[in-house]
Amino acid sequence: MSTYDPKSLHADDFINHEEIMDTLEYAKKNKNNFALIDEILNKAKPVRSGGVLSCKGLTHREAAVLLECDDPEKIRQMIELAEEIKQEFYGNRIVLFAPLYLSNYCVNGCLYCPYHLKNKTIPRKKLTQDEIRAEVIALQDMGHKRLAIEAGEDPINNPIEYILESIKTIYDIKHKNGAIRRINVNIAATSVEEYKMLHDAEIGTYILFQETYDRKGYEELHPTGPKSNYEYHTEAMDRAMQGGIDDVGLGVLFGLEKYKYEFVGLLMHAEHLEAVHGVGPHTISVPRVKKADDIDPSAFEGGIDDEIFTKIIACIRIAVPYTGMIISTRESEDVRKKALAMGISQISGGSRTSVGGYTEDERPHDTEQFDVSDQRSLDEVIDWLIDLGYIPSFCTACYREGRTGDRFMSLCKSGQISNCCHPNALMTLTEYMMDYASPSVKEKGMALIRSELENIPNVQVRGVAKLHIEEIMNNGKRDFRF
Ligand code: SAM
Repeated sequence: MSTYDPKSLHADDFINHEEIMDTLEYAKKNKNNFALIDEILNKAKPVRSGGVLSCKGLTHREAAVLLECDDPEKIRQMIELAEEIKQEFYGNRIVLFAPLYLSNYCVNGCLYCPYHLKNKTIPRKKLTQDEIRAEVIALQDMGHKRLAIEAGEDPINNPIEYILESIKTIYDIKHKNGAIRRINVNIAATSVEEYKMLHDAEIGTYILFQETYDRKGYEELHPTGPKSNYEYHTEAMDRAMQGGIDDVGLGVLFGLEKYKYEFVGLLMHAEHLEAVHGVGPHTISVPRVKKADDIDPSAFEGGIDDEIFTKIIACIRIAVPYTGMIISTRESEDVRKKALAMGISQISGGSRTSVGGYTEDERPHDTEQFDVSDQRSLDEVIDWLIDLGYIPSFCTACYREGRTGDRFMSLCKSGQISNCCHPNALMTLTEYMMDYASPSVKEKGMALIRSELENIPNVQVRGVAKLHIEEIMNNGKRDFRF
C-alpha cells in the first residue's frame, strides 16, 4: 500500500487516494467552520512588504475547505480574494493564443475524445509541412504570435520526428510582419529523451491534461492504448522536467469524474512539482468535456454547472497564485467573462479545433476535436477584451529571455511585473493594432495603449516603452521586449 509523499516520484504516492479521501472528509467536516475559513482566506491574502508583493497560496487541504464551503457570504469573499490576487499579480493583461491541430490520428481508446481509435466515421488527417505553413500563415494573418500544437498519439503517424519537424517549420515562417514566437506543445506523455528533444526544439510550455486524477476512473476512461497506463501518464511532468522543460502546464478534463476529487488531485500535483523540482506548474488549464462527433458529455457522471466551474477557478487562483490559468473556446463568451475576472490569465481566440481548419473559409466540423462555444474571430475577442477593461497581450518575452521555471516565478514575486509584462503587453498590442486590427478596434486599441503607457511605474522603462511604440508605429520596427 502506498502512503502520501509529495516528494516521491511514484504516482500513487504523490496523488495518494487515501490522502484525497481524508482531505475531502476534512473539508466536509469544516465547511461551516467559519473561523477556520477566515483563517484560510487571511493566509491567502496578497501582502506587500518593502515594495515586494507576495502570496502564500494554500495547501490542498485548506483549498478543499474553501471549495466545500457553500455559505453565500464566504463564497463572495472567496471570489473577491481571487479577483484581488488576479489583479495584483496579472493586472488587467490577458495573453492570447490559438491551438493548431497537426494530426487526429490516434491509437488510444479515450472514451471522451472523438479521435479514439474505434471511431471509423471521423476522417483522419495529418498536415503535411506545406499544409502547416498555410495554416500558420492564416494564424499569423489573424495576429497570433503564440500557438499550442495538438496531436493525437500515434507512434507511426505522429512520431516525435514529425512533431519536431513541424515545430521547426512553424518557427521558420516569416510572413509579412508575422511570426510565431512561442510554441506550446500538447502531445501525449512520452520519454525523458523525447522531452529533451522538445526542450532542444525551444518549445514554450509542455502541456498535458491529466483528464482525471482518480486512478479507477482513469483506467475505465482509457481502456486501450498507451494512454491507459495511469502511472506513465501521471508521472509525465517529472520526466518532462528531467528532460529540461521548465514550464509545464497541468489540467483536468472537468465533467468526467467528481470535481472535488479532481481539484484536490490537481493541487497535490502542483505541490509535488514544487517539492521535487522547486517550481510549480507554469499554467493550469480548466477544460470541460464538450460534445463532439460520437461523444455525448451527458454520458459522464461528473458534469458541473457554470457556478461550480467558476468557483473552482476562483479557488485555484487563491491556492496557486503564481500559476497562470488558461481557458479555451470550449467555454462561451459569458463563462469566459466571469472566469477572466476570477483568475484566468490566458485565453485562446479565433480557434478552430479541426485539422487544417484555419485555411478553410467556413468553420469545418468533420475533423473537429470538440464543438467550439466561443466562435468569434480574434479581432472580435480583442475588441471585447478592451471593452471589458483588459489589455490583450501577445507577449512571449519571458521564455525568449530565459525567464522560465523558477526565474519566471522570481519575476512574479519581485513586484517587477508591472515594469516588464505591462510594457511588453502594450508593445505587442501595438504590433497587433498596426498589422491586423480592424479600423474601429485599432482606434480603440491605440487609445488604450496611450493611456496604459502612463501606468508603467518606472519612469525610465516608461520612456523606453514609449520610444519603442513610436518605432513600431512609424518606422515599421517589431519585436521589442523587456
Ligand atoms: N493526445 C494528447 C494527449 O493524449 O494528451 C493531447 C492532445 S488532445 C488533442 C488535447 C486535450 O483535449 C485532451 O487532453 C483532452 O483533455 C481534451 N479533449 C478530448 N476530448 C474532448 C472533448 N470531447 N471535449 C473537450 N475536451 C476534450
